[in-house]
Amino acid sequence: MYNYQRTFPVDQFGNKFVQNDLGKYLDSTPEAPKDIENRKAYFVGGGIANLIGAAFLIRDAQMPGENITFLEQSDVSGGSFDGAGNNEDGFIARGGREMGQHFECFWDIMKDVPAIEMPAPHSVLDEFRKYNENDPNVSLCRIISQQATKRQGRPSMGLSKRSQFKIVKLLMAKEEKTYYKTIEDWFDKDFFESNFYTLWRSMFAFQNYQSLTEMKRYMHRFLQYLPGFPDFSCLRFSRYNQYTSFIQPLEKYLKDKGVRFEYRTTVHDLDILVSGRSFEVQGIELTREGKKDRIEVRPQDIVIVTNGSLTESTGYGDMNTPAEFKKTPGPAWSLWQNIAKKVPNCGKPDVFCSDPEKTVWQSVSFNFYGGYDNPFNQKLRELSQRDLFSGKTVTAGIITSDDSPWLCSLTVHRQPQFPGQQEGLCVAWAYGLLGWEKGTVTNKPMFECTGEEVLREFCYHFGVTDVDKVISMSKVRLATMPFITSEFTPRGEGDRPWPVPEGSKNLGFTGQFVETPDDCVFTTEGSARTAQMAVYGLLGLERDIQPIWPTQYDIRSLLHSASAMGDGKLPGEKLLRRLLKGTYYENIIPRGR
Ligand SMILES: Cc1cc2nc3c(=O)[nH]c(=O)nc-3n(C[C@H](O)[C@H](O)[C@H](O)COP(=O)(O)OP(=O)(O)OC[C@H]3O[C@@H](n4cnc5c(N)ncnc54)[C@H](O)[C@@H]3O)c2cc1C
Repeated sequence: MYNYQRTFPVDQFGNKFVQNDLGKYLDSTPEAPKDIENRKAYFVGGGIANLIGAAFLIRDAQMPGENITFLEQSDVSGGSFDGAGNNEDGFIARGGREMGQHFECFWDIMKDVPAIEMPAPHSVLDEFRKYNENDPNVSLCRIISQQATKRQGRPSMGLSKRSQFKIVKLLMAKEEKTYYKTIEDWFDKDFFESNFYTLWRSMFAFQNYQSLTEMKRYMHRFLQYLPGFPDFSCLRFSRYNQYTSFIQPLEKYLKDKGVRFEYRTTVHDLDILVSGRSFEVQGIELTREGKKDRIEVRPQDIVIVTNGSLTESTGYGDMNTPAEFKKTPGPAWSLWQNIAKKVPNCGKPDVFCSDPEKTVWQSVSFNFYGGYDNPFNQKLRELSQRDLFSGKTVTAGIITSDDSPWLCSLTVHRQPQFPGQQEGLCVAWAYGLLGWEKGTVTNKPMFECTGEEVLREFCYHFGVTDVDKVISMSKVRLATMPFITSEFTPRGEGDRPWPVPEGSKNLGFTGQFVETPDDCVFTTEGSARTAQMAVYGLLGLERDIQPIWPTQYDIRSLLHSASAMGDGKLPGEKLLRRLLKGTYYENIIPRGR
């Protein structure tokens, strides 16, 4: 496999893990591949992963923008990073992203993409940081129950000693020991009943029957965030919906460089020549604006495919119509199936897309019009303890109703979320993790409900009483996503291809179903990392991939997280204090309690 970290500092015995600090070497500009101006790149899919891949191609490989073509089945870029609508019909985003400062690959490129509001030379990163530094994210109401009469601002973790031990054991386990295991294979009832698990599964959308491997990866990757879990002070959010905040500036950057975008273009198959253990893409079979066509791919060209998609086959609904639950995998999956059938090392798509009943959930975009005349807006002001319309942080992440059958969560980001959003309109994003359960008020699964019914259920659990008034002043847009947690399906080695599969001469993969060392799925950063790896790997660029922030090896993070897991009780604290007293290191012990 291509060595993605080329300047590992190693100790005298060749141990790569002695220190994971590449310092300013990471900022170096690689030399362009010799014939770069004569090579072409085709990106199948215009989601964030491939947009970022194209930006890396231009910035780091110095490929001329005109040599790059996007083939995208829908009529906009962004894929899952969507955001649309208007004041009349209401606005919609299928997802809203919890983000952080340690999205190393993502920020590595976003630091060079011009900002949307700040003047040159500022970047998307500068803008994001400015908003978050001046308006930090702290939730004042994280969990509610009994129709919001009970509220917890900074809930305790409530983990028993046994559960804490199980978490540590999971961290210590070799990853291969977790393959094809589920979370419920590992943990016991008391873990599932803890506040920690409510916080965890509502925040990351894990089901008990999903992958232990991914659970383990999340624990390593986000260890430093545990102290900020209960009040979300570990999170960062963009100023606007993420289509506006990220896709638009990135797409503009690419278009300004001459990149071509072909929308309404669906790729069905790749013509691949397999010889021995290597293979090469020679053609792209597609339908463009309804017409079948083929693109010839030369040996020096590269093809980068986003295989699989969390939001493929989304069904939409509104106030009066339930969202259709489409169970057939669309082109994002069938293309991957076609490739995997004929080429080795390209993964096993059926592991992820075969059981949509287990991987589906529904997201809801609530449009609450009428300012504080709308009782739902009043309730949100009361719960968040903030003005909805100040332009600043409101709920600071989801509020979860932990006794609602659907496990309802709702968040209000900075308003307006959409440019042009009218005054007094609050756009909230919500979801139900357990959509198959029967609702308290609706008495049916979330997937069978109209927008109005979903709103009634949320009104009940959020303690809003004047429901008819809310309904008359609101619009609801639903999105049922059959594969939204397919990336958490229990899996093992080889189920996901590497960004550049063994034997590939010119084919790369990006997105949520691609293997990376240690990084996590269901994150923007995961997609960005695969993009950087695919581009650098295919072109052999002499630049290191940004390593994952090595917090799991940092004794300070480990101590703080251990203390957070025990609600301020650090195992062995007395002994540690005695040992470190009067030494240089005495202050690394958390001052918690
Ligand atoms: C509800 C939700 C909540 C999320 N929450 C978070 C979060 O809190 N934090 C976080 O970091 N991330 C979050 N994410 C994840 C993040 O949004 C995704 O990881 C990311 O958007 C995936 O991008 P992608 O480019 O890899 O794939 P996609 O967005 O799936 O893009 C794939 C694109 O390829 C196109 N395509 C696929 N196949 C074909 C074909 N054969 N021919 C032509 N076009 C094709 C599709 O139309 C699509 O545009 C969330 C996502 C959702 C949906």
